[in-house]
Amino acid sequence: MLIVQKYGGTSVANLERIKNVASRIAKYKDEGHDLVVVVSAMAGETDRLINLARQITENPPLRELDLLVSTGEQVSSALLSITLQSMGYPAIALLGFQVPIYTTELFTKAKIKEVGKKKIKEELSRGKIVVVAGFQGITESGDITTLGRGGSDTTAVALAAALKADLCEIYTDVEGVYTADPRIVPQARKLKKISYEEMLEMASAGAKVLEMRSVELAMIYKVPLVVRSSFNNAEGTLITEEDEEMEKVLVSGVTYNRNEARISVYGVPDRPGLAAKLFGPIGEAGIIVDMIIQTARPEGIADMTFTVPKTDFRKAMEIVKNIAREIKAEKVEGDENIAKVSIIGAGMKTHPGVAKKMFETLARHGINIMMISTSEIKISCVIEEKYTELAVRALHEAFNLGEAPFFVEEER
Ligand code: ADP
Ligand code: ASP
Ligand code: MG
Repeated sequence: MLIVQKYGGTSVANLERIKNVASRIAKYKDEGHDLVVVVSAMAGETDRLINLARQITENPPLRELDLLVSTGEQVSSALLSITLQSMGYPAIALLGFQVPIYTTELFTKAKIKEVGKKKIKEELSRGKIVVVAGFQGITESGDITTLGRGGSDTTAVALAAALKADLCEIYTDVEGVYTADPRIVPQARKLKKISYEEMLEMASAGAKVLEMRSVELAMIYKVPLVVRSSFNNAEGTLITEEDEEMEKVLVSGVTYNRNEARISVYGVPDRPGLAAKLFGPIGEAGIIVDMIIQTARPEGIADMTFTVPKTDFRKAMEIVKNIAREIKAEKVEGDENIAKVSIIGAGMKTHPGVAKKMFETLARHGINIMMISTSEIKISCVIEEKYTELAVRALHEAFNLGEAPFFVEEER
């Protein structure tokens, strides 16, 4: 089999853990498998590097920031390859540009355009374990890029898709995908399997166990994806196509996201084209707007509220304030102390009572809902950040997620 494995930051946090990872890889190699191994930077390293740059200036040039943070994965990939070779296993470490992994030019959140297969295949045919630095790529013009936080997951899935690997394993510090972040909800239950669609919604709603883009790619290219722990041999979670059983599960998970901020523009003259005028420049600045609410007031003016990633908050506020002045809006307000809690489940498609239960649960705990958004299989509420844990635990309990799966039939 050709297996792509990805080891996250905590799994390669120090030399001892790198040794542990190398032993796991060696075992697979001994069984006769071909291995491509993607690694993240050692735990905390990416944050450390970003902070170094931020100590110099609040807005470091993004090209140089990518050059800087990509070194984290250069270190860990080299150390893993050295460890494997010292154990007598032929290995070669490759950086993004050596693979090569071509990306778009959007520094700090570049998207993979194409993955070179030739070099990796050659090395595999020589019997080598190929270690690839995650998170990084290169543009056509030769600039180093990174794929956004958590991007090593995406590197792994993209390689698995390109090489048509038999399996892509994501090794991390929890045993799989749980009904909620096990660090916040001790009762959270490990899921045996989850559909690509549900996992995509969970990832987009903040479950950082898998980066969203990696799930998107896995879904498109039907990559068999497994999340499991690098610290033990417990069975992980399989992310796969939806089956009948999954559809019956009403709610499969609760997630939270504290990485967004809210911007409100009050008193916008309510006429066609204004939303485009407001959101056009935000999009052009590479800022992804998540939830949007527009409320029309009787006087022919409207209020507009939306969320953006916290990391883009200042930039977005600047843009919005300029436009607000131009279109003569009354005032602009920003709030960084918000969180988004979401419930996800394929069974919601056919079952209407879920939203009510979610709102009632939050209300019972005195948590005010500032914004709501829904998709076919997800409901999200924006709340005050200080209530995040309380909300996640309360929802987890309300939907009985710690126990057996919550089947639609039981509700009727
Ligand atoms: P890595 O460094 O291995 O990529 P991450 O920190 O990016 O690891 O992702 C793993 C973390 O995701 C876990 O430690 C856990 O706290 C968090 N997490 C959030 N939601 C979930 C969930 N539903 N199931 C499992 N882990 C989750
Ligand atoms: N090292 C990068 C990060 O911390 C990429 C990753 O870990 O997946 O975001
Ligand atoms: Mg991660």
